[in-house]
Amino acid sequence: MEQPLLNEHNKAEYPPMHTAEHILNQTMVRMFGCPRSMNAHIERKKSKCDYRLSEAPTAEQITEAERRVNEVIDRHLPVTVEFVSREEAAAAVDLSKLSAAAGETVRIVRVGDYDACACIGAHVGNTSEIGHFSVLSYDYEGGRLRLRFKLTE
Ligand SMILES: [Zn+2]
Repeated sequence: MEQPLLNEHNKAEYPPMHTAEHILNQTMVRMFGCPRSMNAHIERKKSKCDYRLSEAPTAEQITEAERRVNEVIDRHLPVTVEFVSREEAAAAVDLSKLSAAAGETVRIVRVGDYDACACIGAHVGNTSEIGHFSVLSYDYEGGRLRLRFKLTE
């Protein structure tokens, strides 16, 4: 049986889904200028991520976000891990969600040249292992966009 791996939210997760979450987060940041997901629920069959947006996205924007995530996946980018000092990390990524108890060394996970973030979760080695990303549904209420998505072969 597969050992569940823990991320910073102490939830077992599925590496392809969780890596797709990194790509989706960066895509949302680039498209909407919003923060990375504030609340994510990642599971093998389907996942959801919440984003703080000041207004509702259009259906075209959701389709565009989905297209961009797949474009990144299809570039077959390497997913790499490096350990850097907290100071070095602060220059490259947002550490605001990292607890003060995280220590002086930070684990940075990069998806090629597309995304970098501090994370202790489990990831695939290459985006070619993720599969195809599909948005199942979304809703927007009170400044929160919830995106539900799945991965297929
Ligand atoms: Zn991660």
